[in-house]
Amino acid sequence: MDRIPSEKTNQFYISNRTPLAPSALIKLPVGAVKPEGFLKEYLIRQKNGLTGNLGEISAWLQKENNAWLSKDGTGEWGWEEVPYWLKGYANIGYILEDQAMIDESMVWLESVLNSQRENGDFGPKLMDGDHPDFWAKMIMLYCLQSYYEYSADDRVIDLMTNYFKYELTVPDEEFLEGYWQRLRGGDNLHSVLWLYNRTGEKFLLELAEKIHQNTSNWKGRDLPLEQIKNYYEVRDGGEVPDWYRDQVDWHNVNHAQAFREPAQYYLLTKDEKDLQATYENFKIIRDHFGQVPGGMFGSDENARPGYADPRQGVETCGMVEQMNSDEHLLRITGDPFWADHAEEVAFNTYPAAVMPDFKALHYITSPNMVLLDAENHSPGISNSGPFLMMNPFSSRCCQHNHAQGWPYFIENLWMATPDNGVVAVLYGASKVAVKVGDGTEVSIEETTHYPFEEEIKFAISTKNPVEFPLYLRIPAWAKDASITVNGKLVKDAIVGIGYARISRTWSNGDQVALTLPMEIRTKTWEKNSNSISVSRGPLTYSLKIREKYFKKDSDQTAQWDSKWQKGADTKKWPSWEIHPVTDWNYSLVIDENDPASSFEVMKGHWPKSDFPFTLEEVPIKIVAKARQIPEWQLDQFGLVGELKDLPKASDQPLVDVTLVPMGAARLRITAFPQLENNPQNNE
Ligand SMILES: [Zn+2]
Repeated sequence: MDRIPSEKTNQFYISNRTPLAPSALIKLPVGAVKPEGFLKEYLIRQKNGLTGNLGEISAWLQKENNAWLSKDGTGEWGWEEVPYWLKGYANIGYILEDQAMIDESMVWLESVLNSQRENGDFGPKLMDGDHPDFWAKMIMLYCLQSYYEYSADDRVIDLMTNYFKYELTVPDEEFLEGYWQRLRGGDNLHSVLWLYNRTGEKFLLELAEKIHQNTSNWKGRDLPLEQIKNYYEVRDGGEVPDWYRDQVDWHNVNHAQAFREPAQYYLLTKDEKDLQATYENFKIIRDHFGQVPGGMFGSDENARPGYADPRQGVETCGMVEQMNSDEHLLRITGDPFWADHAEEVAFNTYPAAVMPDFKALHYITSPNMVLLDAENHSPGISNSGPFLMMNPFSSRCCQHNHAQGWPYFIENLWMATPDNGVVAVLYGASKVAVKVGDGTEVSIEETTHYPFEEEIKFAISTKNPVEFPLYLRIPAWAKDASITVNGKLVKDAIVGIGYARISRTWSNGDQVALTLPMEIRTKTWEKNSNSISVSRGPLTYSLKIREKYFKKDSDQTAQWDSKWQKGADTKKWPSWEIHPVTDWNYSLVIDENDPASSFEVMKGHWPKSDFPFTLEEVPIKIVAKARQIPEWQLDQFGLVGELKDLPKASDQPLVDVTLVPMGAARLRITAFPQLENNPQNNE
């Protein structure tokens, strides 16, 4: 079926309350899904790496004079950094049942819960210019909701109720007046609807409307240029193109998180045009800046007309906010498109943004990226400074905000369905405990090395036989998917649908297997010099470039706005330059009539470390034919040369090259230039 039916209301998990549009899919509380395999390993690396130890590095996370810990909301450190970090950190604690992480989270959460003032405001007393700043609190509201899912602590409901009463009293002239908060009102809207579904208090609907009215116009098209509160430099001068007026903002993170606001507002209006606006926002930025593999778009800081080569990148914040938005939209719409997209970003672009040990990350990640160093690469990328350096002391927002990426993804692997069933909507090794059917709690264990493997197995544990529908998402790339139940084929040649539904009385020990055959696909990016990318299943592949790591002092290679604690150990937390050791300037040679025949898939062993995202341990590679383009070099900005400048012919010999999953490649070519008249032999 295309969509899971949403006429009924799930009896066990809180769904949208009238008059909101009904929930398409319903989030399970944090902790209901436990990761296994590399997803679990990722959380452990986060815990042992930057996420778990940021409290000893980041100046904003120091406890002394911290406004998030003060009773009266004053203090030197008190903006987005604490809740950005806590949003992921605390959830890793809940998911792993790690008491030390939970205890540390409670230091911050208790303080927030005790900080509510007479007027209903809480936390740091923040101003955005002359107006109150609501932005950082929008993030803390996410932290409080997760904590409530984990604890059912009613103080969360009280605090949110009183805070939203306060927001309703703020005059429009004072409400969401300022750059970030005005663009990101959708996050505030989400929390208001979350509370409405739990308490049903009508004033929350009024506040939801007020938030929408005071949020930037994400539905706006053909806007006056002065309303586009951003950078609109056009490369080499000239007029701002007309399409640039079709989005209210072009900052990469704003877009990745706020493009969904009209779809959230749709829950109130049920007006299809609102929902459609979000789909259009997604398409507009990708039409102009996202003609690249990996699921994101090239905007560096702010998307600039004329800069759309695959060497442009996106912030780590942009990736995790995009994943969070995709997960929101999956719950709002049930459209499996958002699940495919969340996986595309999670499995390809996000792992490339961080060091394998999760002890450092960088600000900008691009599909084509062949040197990471501490130099300034502006204006090739829009940011001035060492923005490519893998540095635990730096990238102020990403350094904290990265934390949410994997825990949120894991929480959304499984969702409840309106008909008291359950859906495996994102895939990954995991175990879910969920109430289904007549209210019986079942546990389903998902065993797989997906996306590195085509088969996904599900084992059902239940005390009593129970009837419920189990839904499995069928990714759009999958052809000829098949399903067995207890070893018997129940359906094959599944293609072009969103979900498969298996409805039956399930007994303890029942086994389901889903096979998603992964064929090699090539994609031509016509708007980017006809460059070519290679995918297999949900993974996109990049040229394997041997990498050499150079350790640097993190305090010497940090961006201008970085701040670290006195005594933060640069020896324990070094930064890294990564240089290429092998050639990267290749064009792939592909048989146009049968592209898949130009590649050979090499499957290896699953790594003992359970961590596949390194050149050494990645369990799958592809051998391809390629030809060098000697003219393709670093340009004057120290960046991989742009595709548009390359010759269309090469006299170099045909050679074999190795491709690896993009997420395993800290240096990479992912969008390959195409040569004309490119024979597949050496004649
Ligand atoms: Zn960032």
